[in-house]
Amino acid sequence: MPNKECKQCKGKGWYEVLNIGYDIVESAECVDCMVEDMFKQEIEMNLAKMLSNVSKERLATIVASLIVKTVDDNPNDNLSRLENIIHTKNTLEALQIATYLR
Ligand SMILES: [Zn+2]
Repeated sequence: MPNKECKQCKGKGWYEVLNIGYDIVESAECVDCMVEDMFKQEIEMNLAKMLSNVSKERLATIVASLIVKTVDDNPNDNLSRLENIIHTKNTLEALQIATYLR
């Protein structure tokens, strides 16, 4: 995911470069954003590895509270959606909400 503040690509993830040999403009993937992405993935992996020692009950409680807060804070969403997810034991949908928490 490109960095919005990237000076090289200005958040697009790519930029235009002039290919002098062919005298054409080509698009090149932004290396700065790629490197930053790799750095974030590495941190994410190491953090996940470290957190895998925490009990699943504790992690579940933390994730649940993040889901409730996110749904509650969204004026276009409703806590009754979570009630429905619980009643229908729709773990997949709960995980999908958690996956896209930002
Ligand atoms: Zn960039």
